[in-house]
Amino acid sequence: MNQDQTIPRGMLHYGGQWQAAHGTAEIAVHSPATRVLLGHVPVADASDVAAAVDAADRAFADWRRTDALDRGRHLRALADLVRSRIGALAELESAVTGRPIREMRAQMGRIPEWLEYFGGIAAGLEGESNRVRGGLVTLTQYEPLGVCALLTPWNHPILILVKKLAAALAAGNTCVVKPSELAPVSALLFADWCREAGLPAGTVNVVTGAGATGAALCAAPAVRKIDLTGGTVTGRRVAAAAGERLVPCTLELGGKAPIIICDDVPVAEAAAGAVFAAFVAAGQTCVSATRFIVAEPVCEAFVAALRDRVAALRIGAPDDPATDIGPVISAASRDRCFDHIAAARAAGARLVQGGNALALPPALADGFYVPPTVFADVAPAMRLFREEVFGPVVAVTPFRDEAEALALANDSDFALGAAIWTRDVGRAHRLAAEVRAGVVWINDHHKNDPRSVWGGFGESGYGKENGWDALRSYMRKRSIVVRTAPAFDDWFAGGQRYG
Ligand code: NDP
Repeated sequence: MNQDQTIPRGMLHYGGQWQAAHGTAEIAVHSPATRVLLGHVPVADASDVAAAVDAADRAFADWRRTDALDRGRHLRALADLVRSRIGALAELESAVTGRPIREMRAQMGRIPEWLEYFGGIAAGLEGESNRVRGGLVTLTQYEPLGVCALLTPWNHPILILVKKLAAALAAGNTCVVKPSELAPVSALLFADWCREAGLPAGTVNVVTGAGATGAALCAAPAVRKIDLTGGTVTGRRVAAAAGERLVPCTLELGGKAPIIICDDVPVAEAAAGAVFAAFVAAGQTCVSATRFIVAEPVCEAFVAALRDRVAALRIGAPDDPATDIGPVISAASRDRCFDHIAAARAAGARLVQGGNALALPPALADGFYVPPTVFADVAPAMRLFREEVFGPVVAVTPFRDEAEALALANDSDFALGAAIWTRDVGRAHRLAAEVRAGVVWINDHHKNDPRSVWGGFGESGYGKENGWDALRSYMRKRSIVVRTAPAFDDWFAGGQRYG
């Protein structure tokens, strides 16, 4: 797929149209599976960012006054357009990210739900009123914030963009999106689909570039909220930039998800759940299962079943519907994964499966492939237990009792995703109540829905995506206090109340 034919070269998208970037710098986008050149996007400089923010700011004047029901209608029109093009979107996402086409078709099929959900609930955010002492009535009102900066990663480029965009637009904000330099193409195309679906010019704007473009966006004076999904290092930088300007931010950062597997779960089912939790997206999601904490009596049987399931995964080209595992996103990601594999070996962890470079067909020989890898006997002090790999490399550690399972699960600075596998409902709730994570699955993993809040704490960031919490995070709530008492209580003429 030549993406210079999908989107016009040298162009950003803001103010409802393609706009020539002011500078000539470009980012070349390559397939992580083959390293074939897929296309180019411009590097937006500070003047491009300022122009995009200005377009968003001008559009905000009307969009904030557009009735919530009408904003919802716009989002549903966009959902319909996306639904009619899911196949093309999935192919584009798969080509750029290297994620298997089967995964991307399934993920793209869900995108309209976020637009429909937030388009639906926006009109349901009702204010409140209280009659209070002193003959006063207080009213609360919600209002949008203004221009929002959306900084998005490469692993789920459109899903994460739409999660944020749908809430921001439904709440009455306008947006400037800065996608990852590694997967920028679909965001630009999406901006043009927003125009085509009839969203007013300037409501959705996209500037491409690397971290400096994102930093310029965070610093733009008209930006009133920043929403980032990315790594913890970037999260600290963005939080500092937001703090400097006192604008709110939402940070969806890294993770090191623990999975507690109890001895009452059939081993085959636990292994099926484990392989899905850890290896979908080649382990490149923030909630990927990375630390399997397994009841000692079943640990060896689980390790054997997991080994067999992992050995059966089909590694191949992203566009092959039979492929289970594609490449990781970049040479840096591949090198980091192999570095973790070497460190785990050196630290004395037991290599159960994978670990060695793959023999691939010639077409994929230059791709950034990492073997799906399982280590057992991983101790909490080892790097593999502590650091985010963001790739298909997992650790298995046994536990003796619930207290030890929790101590191991919670021995992490991250607190995003976790899962518990057990047939015992009481045990499931005991463990879920104590495990440190913002999203806890019981007997499942990865499941995500616009109605189900999503977000972590600790090194995993703060704030929520999905649900009413996400919508409210894109609004501010105000009080209006009305005197209904017939006479003003004149404090300096002996009145009784000053507060
Ligand atoms: P990064 O943190 O590198 O980047 C995220 C986005 O922020 C990109 O668009 C990036 O641009 C931009 N950016 C980088 N530096 C700055 C800056 N100083 N100011 C403003 N914007 C900046 O993450 P990746 O894209 O590499 O994604 C992988 C990471 O994201 C993983 O480590 C994972 O932990 C985390 N993640 C978390 C998820 C969650 O839901 N919590 C989901 C997915 C990923 P550019 O890349 O072009 O430099």
